[in-house]
Amino acid sequence: MAGAKGLVSGVIPFSSVDGPGNRFVLFLQGCNFDCIACHNPHTISPCNDCGLCAHVCPSGALSLEHGFVRWNDALCTSAELCIARCPYDATPKARWHTVDEIVADIRAHAPYLSGVTVSGGEATQQAAFVRALFEALRDDDTLGRLHRLVDSNGAAPQDVWDELADAMDGAAIDLKAFDDEVHRRMTGASNALVLRSIELLAARGSLHEVRLLLLPGVNDRLDDLARCGAWLHRVDPNLRVKVIGFRRHGVRPRAAQVDEPSAAEMGAYAEALRGIGLTNVELV
Ligand code: SF4
Ligand code: SF4
Repeated sequence: MAGAKGLVSGVIPFSSVDGPGNRFVLFLQGCNFDCIACHNPHTISPCNDCGLCAHVCPSGALSLEHGFVRWNDALCTSAELCIARCPYDATPKARWHTVDEIVADIRAHAPYLSGVTVSGGEATQQAAFVRALFEALRDDDTLGRLHRLVDSNGAAPQDVWDELADAMDGAAIDLKAFDDEVHRRMTGASNALVLRSIELLAARGSLHEVRLLLLPGVNDRLDDLARCGAWLHRVDPNLRVKVIGFRRHGVRPRAAQVDEPSAAEMGAYAEALRGIGLTNVELV
């Protein structure tokens, strides 16, 4: 499966915030949610080659050829005017890459890495590619030591997690809201699959952490948070729960009016969860 291809929106060769240690992060294009608070909204949809962005590039890196938008990375200055122009939450820079190409990129940075994280978009939307990539890393003499993490919104059925089970070391799951109505308002989808994924991964010992991104006035009611904490406690009282305060940077205009939580609010969130008995609550 080394020839398997994935639609990649970008990579970060070194990150210390996308899992344990220093990590290579691969962002896949395409997501099954449409979150109010998405910080990578250009990764949600595939490009439809409408051409609207082709003429805004100040360095001539974009062109429209035979009905397709072409991106010349040698000319790109990352001004990102194309992404700002796109009305479809896409990017003209996403490209199909083979597993071999991504492995070669990881190998070039490997001496400084402790792991690889596949994020998005939604990583599980391209599960066959993620599996093929992780298997190639796992079975490689020098890269097999790298920890392999899936960063997911959790909206994947069991057969997807079954497909990834042997190849990944763990998954970090975002739980956008415990209340299903709030979750639907925030993401456009139910949280039923997300909750099932958390239970399944925890039972298999492959749940790296659960992340709660909290937006004041949207999903931060303390009684909801306490119910969420009680449920997570039943799943695993020692589960790592990362409480992340909403930041406006990079979000779409519809989220620009949402407040960022204060230090006092963050403290109250943590207290609501620790008060339930969760032992491993981190504030970010
Ligand atoms: S799941 Fe992640 S990538 Fe998808 S819309 Fe939500 S925040 Fe954005
Ligand atoms: S990135 Fe967006 S604006 Fe540009 S061609 Fe694709 S869909 Fe159209």
